[in-house]
Order: sequence, then structure tokens, then C-alpha cells
Amino acid sequence: MTQAPQPTSASTTPDPQLEPLTQAVLAAMPATIAELSTLVRIPSVSWDGFEPEQVQRSAEAAKALIEGIGVFDSVELARASIDDETLGHPAVLATRKAKNGRPTILLYAHHDVQPPGHDSDWDSPPFEPTVRGDRLYGRGAADDKAGIMAHVAAIRAFVETVGEDFDLGLVAFFEGEEEFGSRSFANFITENREKLAADVIVVADSDNWDVNTPSLTVGLRGNVTFKLKVSTLAHASHSGMFGGAVPDAMLATVKLLATLHDENGSVAVDGLTSREGQTPEYSEEKLRHEAGLLDGVSSIGSGNVLSRLWDKPAITITGIDAPSVMNASNTLTPSITVKLSARIAPGQDPNDAFEALRAHLHANAPFGAHLEISDVDRGSPFLVDTSGWAVEVVKTAMHEAWGNEPLETGIGGSIPFISDLVEVFPEAQILVTGVEDPESRAHSPNESLHLGVFKRAILTEALLLAKLERRA
Ligand SMILES: [Zn+2]
Repeated sequence: MTQAPQPTSASTTPDPQLEPLTQAVLAAMPATIAELSTLVRIPSVSWDGFEPEQVQRSAEAAKALIEGIGVFDSVELARASIDDETLGHPAVLATRKAKNGRPTILLYAHHDVQPPGHDSDWDSPPFEPTVRGDRLYGRGAADDKAGIMAHVAAIRAFVETVGEDFDLGLVAFFEGEEEFGSRSFANFITENREKLAADVIVVADSDNWDVNTPSLTVGLRGNVTFKLKVSTLAHASHSGMFGGAVPDAMLATVKLLATLHDENGSVAVDGLTSREGQTPEYSEEKLRHEAGLLDGVSSIGSGNVLSRLWDKPAITITGIDAPSVMNASNTLTPSITVKLSARIAPGQDPNDAFEALRAHLHANAPFGAHLEISDVDRGSPFLVDTSGWAVEVVKTAMHEAWGNEPLETGIGGSIPFISDLVEVFPEAQILVTGVEDPESRAHSPNESLHLGVFKRAILTEALLLAKLERRA
């Protein structure tokens, strides 16, 4: 990210509600973890090919949690259309009107999860939440059912200390298809614009610097993904007959993909931009450990490690359709399809990034290979405007709840729907917080939540609510 660690203005007197809120959060922790575990047991994978009934179940469970707090004017399950034929997965939408000139805060999280992958890669079953050491393991235990539970527990602690007759406006919005591209999100927020209107939006779907240091995510890379089909022959032929005189599609594909990076592994596509700036210290050793680099394998790219992750583009081939090894015959393959996934730097328009990639591929197609690009998906990068008052308020809350100053960080992944939020609610201040830490392994086997981070994230948000309640 562009900012070096930003010291938070440490308040000289602690928040008057820090003590009672801490007690309330601590006393409720066992119940909060048990309720989170109940959510994790619901395999609410939002991808096509998984049971949509499970996403409905998790929506209902999240709705019941919000209803149970008893402070919202309305709580509903709502869906929006993706296109003329398809409806998106259900979201929880709950509102409580602000009174006496107090601000309204929207709390976002998502109740759907990524597919679990193979059970055998997990040390305990993905949908059987299991505590080992300081961590709760399970698919969605961190991403993002912990976000939902953090919102619920924070509101509960807040209500316990201020009573039910408070003035702060509240909106809870728990999406059901974030892991499948938030396909109805733009329609949803347009159709529910009035109910969702807020001064401050908390997106609890990101991570923290480490288990002792909170982060406010202020920069997110965008993404461009597409399928690329490379063809060289009208039909397959015997490799002994024609090999050596005609190029097969695999040869063309390998040579083409090799042009995307230079010798150091830096992206070598003209027109993909980087962002200049300072980033916090993050050692090569830490990268090796957290990413699981094998002995002797070097990192790629150049410059400060975090600038590579936050401020520069990355290109990954995430899938390839080609004859499998088991079915390999002595054949020249006529065409190959790959899935290309690019992360793009904050500040770059995803349409421009796609154009740069398209132009590069066509300019470098070996032997005049035919290229076909399809299923293009673009997500905008995001930079938080950190000048708003809410940034200062949440950073103070983080400092008080964690006992350590927060860092402003970037994140290498994308949350594409944030650009939809900015478009529909240009006046709202968006705070990207989270319950994850570097060991959470969201989307991977053995996903987990650090329970200390979870507690501190809940307390941070309860303090944030208390501070906004006092804000005229
Ligand atoms: Zn998430």
C-alpha cells in the first residue's frame, strides 16, 4: 500500500464504555463461538452445482440471529435478479432508523462460503467446526461467517451497555453470493437503496496484519479474468507423422504464456500499471513461511514484498483444459483452453487492463496461432478515501480494543462489489475491516479463525457503535 504504518492518535482518556463493553463481549464469547459454529455447520456454498437450499438455510439462520437482538425495525430475507431468468441468493436485510441526528451505520458480511475442496486435505471435516489451540477450524469459520457473528455480537454488547432506546441508525446486510461473484449485488443495492442508505459502511471481510495488530484495509487490487483458447490445427494428428513440422496448440500455448512474465517473474505486459508508494516492512522470510515456498524456490517480482502484493499487477494461469496425462496419446493437440486470472493495481481501470492483456496476447501469439477470448470478468480496484472522520473513529476503536495501533494496509485480493457500493452510495464512508489474520487460509483447506482476533474484532466494532451513538 502507499501508506507506511500510520500511527493512530492515541486518545489520552480511554473510551468510557471500553470497560463495560469488554466485560459484555468477554462474557458472551462462549455463546458467540457456539453460534458461529452452528453457522459453520451449514454448507452454504453459493457456487453453481451446490445445493442452493443450504444458502437459504444459512440466510435464515443469520436472519434469526439478527431478529433475536430485538432492536431492528424490520428484518427480511431479500433477493435481487441477476438477469431476466435468474434470481440471486438470499441476503439478510435489517434496518433501524436513526434518531436525533445520529448517523446510520451499515454492517456488511456474507453468509455464503467457498467450496470445501477435498475432505482429505482437511485435518478436521470442513463443515464440522473444531477448536484446536487458539483457532476455530471450518469452511466459513473466518470467511465470512465470523464477520456475521462479529456484527451480531458487537450489536448485542452495545445494546447491553446502552439499552434498547438508542439513537444510532443500524443496517445489517448479509449477502449470500459474495464467493460466487456477487452477481446480483449491483441490482440489490439499487433496488434497496433507501433501506441501505448509511453514513458509514463497515465491510467486515478482510484481514489483519497479525493476531496482535489490527488493520484497516485501504487499498484493494482489482481483477480481470477470462478464458483463452489457443488453436493451431483444424484437427488432431499423429505426432510422429507431423511433429517437427507443424506446431501443436500446447507448444503455442506454453510459448505464449511464457511471454507474460520476465525472467524474474515480474509481469511483462505493457499497459498494466503499478502504483508507487511505501509499504510496511515484510521480510522475505515471512513471505516464505506464510506462502509455503519450498526450499530453494525463489520469490518472484521486484521491489518491496508488499508493493508486489498490493500495488503491482499479477497474472496467474488458474486452469487448463488439455489432454490429461492418463489419456496422453502420441497426438498433436489442435487447441488448448486456459483460464487467465490477473490482479490489477489500485488506480487502473479494469477495462484498460483487459485491453492491455488482449493486445499483448495477440501481439505475441506464436506461429500465428488463433486466439479466442471469452467469459471476461472485470472487477475494479479500490482505494479508500482516508480523509473522512469515520476512519479516525474506527482506528481509535481498534487501538483501544487491541491495545496496539492499527496499520493501514492494502490487500492483494479483490472485493469487486466495493466499487458498486461507492457508485450507489458516493457519500458513505467505507471501512474495510475483518476477522482474518495471515494464518486464516480463507478459501483453502483448514480455513480457521483466531479466537483472540475474533474477540478483539467484536470489541472494536462494539466500541465503534458506542462512539457513533455519542456523535451528534
Ligand atoms: Zn469473504
